[in-house]
Amino acid sequence: MSSTDSTAPSAELSPEEAAAIRTNLDEVASKAASAAEASGRTSADVKVLLATKTQPADKIRVAIEHGFTLIGENKVQELVGKADALADLAHEAHLIGPLQKNKVNHTLRHAHCIQSVDNLELATKISKRLDFLDDTVGCFVQVNTSREDSKSGIAPEDAEALVAELRGFPRLQLRGLMTIGLPGQSAEEIRPSYAALRELSESLIAAGVLPAEATELSMGMSNDFELAIAEGATMVRVGSSVFGARDYT
Ligand SMILES: *Cc1c(COP(=O)(O)O)cnc(C)c1O
Repeated sequence: MSSTDSTAPSAELSPEEAAAIRTNLDEVASKAASAAEASGRTSADVKVLLATKTQPADKIRVAIEHGFTLIGENKVQELVGKADALADLAHEAHLIGPLQKNKVNHTLRHAHCIQSVDNLELATKISKRLDFLDDTVGCFVQVNTSREDSKSGIAPEDAEALVAELRGFPRLQLRGLMTIGLPGQSAEEIRPSYAALRELSESLIAAGVLPAEATELSMGMSNDFELAIAEGATMVRVGSSVFGARDYT
């Protein structure tokens, strides 16, 4: 591991840096609340999950202590690497990046929810491991609403079959659907993807395929979370607007 490994303890966080994170959090929360109200809902209807990839545990700690207890990691390695440093804080860790089958065991040790379930083989593997652990996990079906980047997410037309299969895995507690816009898309370019996810969710619930309580829609990032809320998001995933630009060096 190099010294720039994001899971390594960083230099002590200054009071100014911590204060900036709190200010950013308050701003995101207030914008999310306004957007929720504008769409006829309340702030309680929209959760803010923090996308914490590359961010050191001490910054995440500031956010959790400020009341933002939903944390999303993209990489299993980061999820595992920061878990000990955050273990004393009540929070809910989600995996929001792609999951390889060989990382399922590590993931289940630390994640409360897996937002990237997009194929039956993966779901089967998770379910078998949960049988062994006698445990459950929350999950979202990730849908590739933009259709262009085929790397992750199931095609919208195949989502119904996957959701139906998941009903056979009671240890996977389906909370709803998740989507990611293509990087570099403008807010207006991304909007149809968010509308499509909401429409898919509504039609799968109406058809009795998606359980009636699995109403979550995880969509929207720093650049477009207000628009995602306007389209029905119940959970937005924000990173850079809270923690600043990511350092990938
Ligand atoms: C990084 C990331 C986000 C947040 O992106 P920002 O633009 O930093 O807010 C949301 N969802 C996923 C899956 C991500 O990887």
